[in-house]
Amino acid sequence: MEIAAIIVAAGRGTRAGGDVPKQWRRLHGARVADWTVDAFLSHPRIGRVVLVLHPDDLGQAEGFADAIVATGGATRDASVMAGLEALVGDPPDLVLIHDVARPLVGGRVIDRVIDALDTAAGAAPALAVTDALWMGENGKVSGTHDRNGLYRAQTPQGFRFAAILAAHRAHQDGALPGGAADDVEVARGAGLEVTIVEGDEANMKITGPSDFARAEEMMRDRMDIRVGQGYDVHAFEPGEACILCGVAVPHGQKLKGHSDADVGMHALTDALYGALAEGDIGQHFPPSDPQWKGAASHVFLEHAIGLARSRGYELVNCDVTLICERPKIGPHVGAMRAALARIVDVDVDRISVKATTSERLGFTGREEGIASMAVATLVKA
Ligand code: MG
Repeated sequence: MEIAAIIVAAGRGTRAGGDVPKQWRRLHGARVADWTVDAFLSHPRIGRVVLVLHPDDLGQAEGFADAIVATGGATRDASVMAGLEALVGDPPDLVLIHDVARPLVGGRVIDRVIDALDTAAGAAPALAVTDALWMGENGKVSGTHDRNGLYRAQTPQGFRFAAILAAHRAHQDGALPGGAADDVEVARGAGLEVTIVEGDEANMKITGPSDFARAEEMMRDRMDIRVGQGYDVHAFEPGEACILCGVAVPHGQKLKGHSDADVGMHALTDALYGALAEGDIGQHFPPSDPQWKGAASHVFLEHAIGLARSRGYELVNCDVTLICERPKIGPHVGAMRAALARIVDVDVDRISVKATTSERLGFTGREEGIASMAVATLVKA
């Protein structure tokens, strides 16, 4: 079952304020269109995304390397048609048609539309009207309207591809004055039944200036924050220095291990994997694999931070604790923080390294080795 999404972004709407159409305005660190396209590109069930742009906006297409860009027409209907035509050569089974001005669309709404298409010709999210409805004239209430059976329609609106293509073609041929309000209207005009699935208050449409402030607030609230922890131990063996958080600390012994045995960096690396729910260092770099013998541990840490960034996470802070009686860590903490900050490419004031003894208790107290604990916070904005 191949599912494509068409995002209609050819409008010139500047009602939301600003001097560029609303889809190009910044919202929480990216353009409105970036958020909307990403919501579909990152959804596991969506195979292809078509972005329909106004002819004047084709210069913006460079920012959407993973989407198919189509050129829209003078009306919304014509733009949807252009998006459908872009898929005709290799048609998907299902298509979801979405308004670019709903950047907060969530995966669950998309899933509900797709699931309903198992049995329905068309499906679209909506919310039942719960407020009382009035009619008004000259600032005064002139009547009331029964809200029973009324819904606020949202997108994405989903259909079998062949059926909505035929419906839009028929609609174009009919050349109805004014065009259709949405694709549900076009579908119903062609005799398709459309099932209502539960919408989402968060799936708001940005129309006026206050909507930007509300959307910004909602995006801040849905920020994905993850914490991971790591713990590691390495024993001493005869040697001259311990590698700790990337710094060679002179000592009468070294740490024993398959790699350079940097216990602090290993704990931090595991904290990153932990935050991502991506197992641990041994899974990504098996000790049984000879290529990691004597490896510098920054290779592991670079892999973990790279994995985090590839998923859109940034390292907000980390805190590494080294547990040993000796060597004395204090004099090297500055160099360790700087070394870790360089590897993960984060400001040094977000990197903490500290040390404690275990009051001569246990294996660290007996100076048999060094233990380390780390926590790391990742944020996806
Ligand atoms: Mg280790």
